[in-house]
Amino acid sequence: MPLHEGHRPVERRLSVNPFYGPANPLGDMTEAPPTHRLPEQPMAPATAHQLVRDELMLDGNARLNLATFVTTWMEPEAGVLMAECRDKNMIDKDEYPRTAELERRCVAMLADLWNAPDPASVVGCSTTGSSEACMLAGMALKRRWAKRNADRYPGARPNLVMGVNVQVCWDKFCTFWEVEPRLVPMEGERFHLDPQAAAELCDENTIGVVGILGSTFDGSYEPIAELCAALDALRERTGLDIPVHVDGASGAMVAPFLDEDLVWDFRLPRVASINTSGHKYGLVYPGVGWALWRDSAALPEELVFRVNYLGGDMPTFALNFSRPGAQVVAQYYTFLRLGRQGYRAVQQAARDVATELAGRVEGLGDFRLLTRGDQLPVFAFTTAPDVTAYDVFDVSRRLRESGWLVPAYTFPPHREDLSVLRVVCRNGFSTDLAEMLAQDLEQLLPDLRRQPGPLTEDRGAATSFHH
Ligand SMILES: *Cc1c(COP(=O)(O)O)cnc(C)c1O
Repeated sequence: MPLHEGHRPVERRLSVNPFYGPANPLGDMTEAPPTHRLPEQPMAPATAHQLVRDELMLDGNARLNLATFVTTWMEPEAGVLMAECRDKNMIDKDEYPRTAELERRCVAMLADLWNAPDPASVVGCSTTGSSEACMLAGMALKRRWAKRNADRYPGARPNLVMGVNVQVCWDKFCTFWEVEPRLVPMEGERFHLDPQAAAELCDENTIGVVGILGSTFDGSYEPIAELCAALDALRERTGLDIPVHVDGASGAMVAPFLDEDLVWDFRLPRVASINTSGHKYGLVYPGVGWALWRDSAALPEELVFRVNYLGGDMPTFALNFSRPGAQVVAQYYTFLRLGRQGYRAVQQAARDVATELAGRVEGLGDFRLLTRGDQLPVFAFTTAPDVTAYDVFDVSRRLRESGWLVPAYTFPPHREDLSVLRVVCRNGFSTDLAEMLAQDLEQLLPDLRRQPGPLTEDRGAATSFHH
């Protein structure tokens, strides 16, 4: 959440739409209610509803937001189910045993989907999203390392090895839990982690290596099997046995359906844990993620807390206490509704839209594709070398005029020279919508080509947050 600052109150003597008065357009509601302190008096629900709604009209249209990975469309039935469950608190396992059971089934389904050799020994939980799931996975890695190194820790400084392209949640993990981030930089046309370089950064204080399926920067899958092989070789050479966590925020709900031959999951013995965002390609509205550990050895017992459950103890692992149950129910609904074939169809449609749109963008001639949407249904592109009249920030700004949110951003070390645009194709971003985006982009080009040079001065402000 943005860390909001206080607000100096201003009297707002403006009148609002007289219709909003509860009964009498002449007499009621002559003043706008204060917005930064509690109003003295209550108002009618219809009035409050109207005022809030009016304000929200200025929010963007979520379906035109090509910056986010998070689900912006679900079926009406899912919406009804979520509304029916909005009063259920996930932590009250005793009060809502069926919701708890649905969560358990989702974990079992994911264990199976991610090819756990022994699904019965997998432990897992729902979270508010991948960020919380990554915190939990990172804590488990750190605690396991600390136990193995009890003679040196506290004292020794733990580190976590990952690509410089990790999502911001891993920076948070390292800051909050005092772990040194060791980042593999980008190199040339390699925009994610290199297995060999990652292995070289490991030492006796490495709690684990994070592999990302797929990178938020360009939608590419990191080579998880190669990473595990490089760490196997490290073990042969040095005896260091470093576990891998797979951050599958997006890809763990794409690869199992579209890339069955890709080995990235619990089939690799070195993969200790995996997370995904139920609210990304899991196809549920925001507020749900999943974390799974191969077995209880991967999740130290002392991190697990117990809540009352039907007179007994239910183990839980979470940062939050209270949390809505609706999203978990919606995840179960979606699993049940789609099944493997349904998920395959939805993700294939997203991939088809992404690859076709990427081809269309390439065909315009002004752009160079970094990725083609054939891993995550996401692609990144930049301006061709001979384009000097405008840059990606200008494109992003101009596309906003037609309602499209396409973020532009600069790459991290060592490719700070490279700025890109990124398009995330999600369920609901149809071929028709993609075609409209392509046409809008094409129509902008003559104007952009006539510019004397790139016009965007404040690049940070020009674009939206790209994770
Ligand atoms: C989105 C994302 C996250 C954070 O997930 P939330 O569900 O938004 O908390 C972490 N890692 C990767 C790779 C992501 O794409």
